[in-house]
Amino acid sequence: MTDYMAQMLNELMGSQRDAMPGERKELRFDDVNVCTDFLVGFCTHDIFRNTKNDLGFCKYSIHDENLKKSYQTSDRKGKMGFEQRFLDRIRRIHEDVHRKIQKHEDRLSVTQRESKSAEETFGEKIQENEQRREQLAKKVEDLMDEAAVEGAKGNVEAAQSAVEKADKAKFEMEELLTELTNLRTEKDRAISMEENVTAGNRQMQVCQICGCFMLQNDAPQRVDDHMTGKLHIAYQQIADTIQVLEQTIEELKQKRMEERFSRRQDRSRSRSNERKRSERSEHRRDHRDHRDRDRDHHHRHRDHKDHREHREHREHREHRDRGDRHRSDRDRRVSSPKFTKK
Ligand SMILES: [Zn+2]
Ligand SMILES: [Zn+2]
Repeated sequence: MTDYMAQMLNELMGSQRDAMPGERKELRFDDVNVCTDFLVGFCTHDIFRNTKNDLGFCKYSIHDENLKKSYQTSDRKGKMGFEQRFLDRIRRIHEDVHRKIQKHEDRLSVTQRESKSAEETFGEKIQENEQRREQLAKKVEDLMDEAAVEGAKGNVEAAQSAVEKADKAKFEMEELLTELTNLRTEKDRAISMEENVTAGNRQMQVCQICGCFMLQNDAPQRVDDHMTGKLHIAYQQIADTIQVLEQTIEELKQKRMEERFSRRQDRSRSRSNERKRSERSEHRRDHRDHRDRDRDHHHRHRDHKDHREHREHREHREHRDRGDRHRSDRDRRVSSPKFTKK
């Protein structure tokens, strides 16, 4: 079975589609195949599906609403780094689309600038033409003078040659005049064409959410179609989520700091209580030797038990941290998807 088909089936039927009815194991949100973006918010692969920026299939096969709920209500929420990783990912997409918006705006301003150069180009050609005709007119004048002088001297051949040269120059002048008329017509046509293009460009604008070209003052139906288009909505969702998530992460940080502070206070309070207790017990020891021994034994036993529980807890946490590290390594290994697909 191809990867594509497997992933499609996973999306349709869940990744445990092959398991026999009784065999399905209880899924947990920290399973390695769970898309953690989905737990936190949404899968970026989902929101761009079948748009110009389709990201292909998500490399994590499990996107499950129940797991999302169990993560959202879990006391591990906000402590696994999922939010930060999701935020980093959607920020990259957000930055990409902003580069695209900038590029498209640059393109609009360049076409507007280019349209001015036609007048300049034709203006230069017309100026050259006029200068050349002036030179030729002067040349014709000089040659006719020369012909007159030579004729008066009786140098018929020289006079004739000067007249022939003058005729040639006149012919060239006429050619230049025809060219000038053509240039003027071309110039007018180019300018009016440019005006249309420029006017078209002026009516164009770049959508500040998704980077698409849009017509200014377009028909409401078309504007509506754009705003409810999947691509536009996806980028809008990303922009909104970044704002919300930044705030959520800040609040989580605050909460954790407060928790740490109150834990420290609890610890110092219990230490001072213990000190008082031991002072009291020392005071009583003289009188209740036998009973104290019993109670100390009990204390020791409980301390031992506390200590063991604490160690187990720590081992569990270390194991979980390793899992997290493994997961973020795995994330880093996979190259970031391309969003520049046209
Ligand atoms: Zn996903
Ligand atoms: Zn848009």
